[in-house]
Amino acid sequence: MGKQRIAVIGLGRFGATLAQEAQANGVEVLAVDSNETKVNDIADSVGEAIIADCTDPKAINAIDWQQFSTVVVAIGSDIKNSMMTVIHLQEAGVRTLWCKVQDKYHAALMSRLGVQKVISPEEEMARRAGRTIHFPDMMQQMLLGADQFVAEIQIINRMDRSAIASKLGRKHHQLLAIKRKTESSFTQTTALPDCLYPGDRILVLSQSSAEASWLSFMS
Ligand code: ATP
Repeated sequence: MGKQRIAVIGLGRFGATLAQEAQANGVEVLAVDSNETKVNDIADSVGEAIIADCTDPKAINAIDWQQFSTVVVAIGSDIKNSMMTVIHLQEAGVRTLWCKVQDKYHAALMSRLGVQKVISPEEEMARRAGRTIHFPDMMQQMLLGADQFVAEIQIINRMDRSAIASKLGRKHHQLLAIKRKTESSFTQTTALPDCLYPGDRILVLSQSSAEASWLSFMS
């Protein structure tokens, strides 16, 4: 199987970062922007970078979009350009479109147009920060639907097995993996360790209703 290919249109902070991360993670990226400087800035860190105004149907039709599994439209601040680009891409047969939006009106418009994934980075980050602000030990959190989430927790205070068991067992948190302070990756395990030390990290599957209990778990 060949490399997965995606295209990113709009190389602001969001688009450029997404393009570079995807390329660094093994995806072949075409980066597109109407601004020459933005294209030159990213040229060395993606597969290909081209200057094009994607509100122009001629520019859209000059590219074979069928080669891309996903096209990301990351034109946030100009809703008209974002919308025209999406419409032209849909007319060119692009099926999987992601779109970065700046506000709820932009989001509603993109949903109405049938865009598969509508991304509102500021709002999503603010929600995430709001959820975790009480939990300074929570490094990362991934929501799994409405009821569950996976959290990466940094251990601050030494805890022995009985302390871990009482916190996890009582509070409906399931241990998934442990990374010791000296290790570079997590080891999958559901078995409780004899001890957790400051600097160790754990991955835990939790019920959202039990989220507040992390406060007591960590203190
Ligand atoms: P950021 O991602 O930096 O948070 P943003 O989403 O508001 O901000 P913009 O400032 O809108 O990003 O920049 C998006 C990029 O889209 C800019 O580099 C701009 O040149 C590019 N862009 C705007 N219109 C078009 C277009 N018609 N075709 C191609 N690129 C475009």
